[in-house]
Amino acid sequence: MIYDEDFETLPREALEAIQLKRLQSLAEKAYATVPFYKKAFDEKGVKPGDIKSLQDLHKLPFTMKQDLRDNYPFGMFATPLENVVRIHASSGTTGKPTVVGYTRRDINTWSELMARTLAAAGAHKGDIVHNAYGYGLFTGGLGFHYGAERLGTSVIPVSGGNTKRQILLMKDFGPTVLTCTPSYSLHLADVAAEEGIDFKSLDFRVGVFGAEPWTENMRKDIENRLGIDAVDIYGLTEIIGPGVSVECVEAKNGLHVFEDHFIPEIIDPATGEPLAYGETGELVFTTLTKEAFPLIRYRTRDLSVLYHEPCKCGRNLVRMGRITGRSDDMLIIRGVNVFPSQIESVLMAREDVAPHYVLIVDRQEHMDTLEVHVEVDEGVFSDAVKHLQRMEQDIEKDIKDLLGVSCKVRLVEPKTIQRSQGKAQRVIDKRKA
Ligand code: ADP
Ligand code: ZN
Repeated sequence: MIYDEDFETLPREALEAIQLKRLQSLAEKAYATVPFYKKAFDEKGVKPGDIKSLQDLHKLPFTMKQDLRDNYPFGMFATPLENVVRIHASSGTTGKPTVVGYTRRDINTWSELMARTLAAAGAHKGDIVHNAYGYGLFTGGLGFHYGAERLGTSVIPVSGGNTKRQILLMKDFGPTVLTCTPSYSLHLADVAAEEGIDFKSLDFRVGVFGAEPWTENMRKDIENRLGIDAVDIYGLTEIIGPGVSVECVEAKNGLHVFEDHFIPEIIDPATGEPLAYGETGELVFTTLTKEAFPLIRYRTRDLSVLYHEPCKCGRNLVRMGRITGRSDDMLIIRGVNVFPSQIESVLMAREDVAPHYVLIVDRQEHMDTLEVHVEVDEGVFSDAVKHLQRMEQDIEKDIKDLLGVSCKVRLVEPKTIQRSQGKAQRVIDKRKA
């Protein structure tokens, strides 16, 4: 179903006219209210008034994750804090999260976009949504929640964790729409099976899965095991959270970007040059309607492709391909964004380990696992086993405290981690199946 016929099926020309108007007022506003943008525009020698066509977007400066960090926590806000009714955050690379704000109108926009998203996946009034995205600073839980209410479904705000209880609720409440990460959906099916419940016998019809990379193979696996349609949803905290793009259940082939609110671009990550439709590169988004936290040409580091072929669902919106990778080394572990450099900073803060480590990421029973192998310092290794165990636990705790993700630390003997000639291979990701 199309939730917002007016906007989702607009003829290209009409859509672009709206985009241009919105882009012009965004540029004016960002320049006038966010010191970062005034400086960035001035350095590029561009004025808001220079935007005469959509092509002129390319004249505007990029925004990087580092810029958000430099302006921590509220420096990028385009409105006084008293107009901000909600704050969310996502994990950052320095231990400091990226902080975003929403005005009342932003929350309204987001709810509308998530209602569109759920409708595109085939949800409607009368559905019961089992929402197992985490509630809290993370945008997933509340983003889906508001959209589900806006659409008129009954939403169960179950959040993440406590899987056995989730299975019980699924059996008793009869939810028809499942929203969680793709890996968690398979974990749910495993735990259901352990409890003697065939997931297919539940009432679920469709799942809306995102927040981490997955593959076509995994889609098939989920659809077969859960007996549902599995739809891909994409978003990121900086842009709004979930609700940037979604597949339609009719085609399940590429994610429609809600272009009346976000302009997507694909650029060459090395040069920053815009690439044509059909070419793979880094996704860049400009927010057209956000009040509290507008972003101009935000570099996501996610790799994808944009294409324009008409879709059988009737939406006229451009589609982006499944995310195929990142142009940086960010990992997503159980939904948490993790940079190897963050783990390195924990290790380097200690005297008793050497700067040689490797991260082993895997998936067991459909849940991500992280192991950190690190060399003990030469002086330490002769010590008692007990002491080494305590060191491992200490490091595990430090990593958990900084990143919010549990891991297993394994100390290894000095000089046993392979040295590389060039760029060190710090990550072994065994999940890529
Ligand atoms: P969220 O996890 O809520 O989408 P975050 O800001 O924590 O928001 O993380 C955003 C990142 O998660 C994206 O930049 C992208 O790397 C990854 N991501 C989100 N959705 C998908 C998806 N459907 N496929 C692949 N990666 C995704
Ligand atoms: Zn479609």
